[in-house]
Amino acid sequence: MAVRFCPRCGTLLRPRRVGGELQLYCVKCGYHEIAKSIEPYSVKAEVRRNPKDKILVLESSQQPATAQIVKGISCPKCGNEEAYFWMIQTRAADEPPTRFYRCTKCGHTWREYA
Ligand SMILES: [Zn+2]
Ligand SMILES: [Zn+2]
Repeated sequence: MAVRFCPRCGTLLRPRRVGGELQLYCVKCGYHEIAKSIEPYSVKAEVRRNPKDKILVLESSQQPATAQIVKGISCPKCGNEEAYFWMIQTRAADEPPTRFYRCTKCGHTWREYA
């Protein structure tokens, strides 16, 4: 049943049975109303999923948030000397990780095996 408050004094109304009829009454001021007249509202726990909450599956060519900007790395496409740099362990754990670079100017991404 829905929680109701006294319209007169704001006290939480309590249910009581009067002659087979369910009432909500206020212990403070004596206000009462028939519980049947109250439309019970059901609160459905609706879980709204934001599409933005989707976990991004990081592909090896995607730039992670931890990528650092390195200078002096020449972009093979446009020659810009600033690129995002990150490493991903793409092969066996005992092998060195793959280095990725993404040009800050043209967005060209390339990899370099250490
Ligand atoms: Zn009251
Ligand atoms: Zn470039």
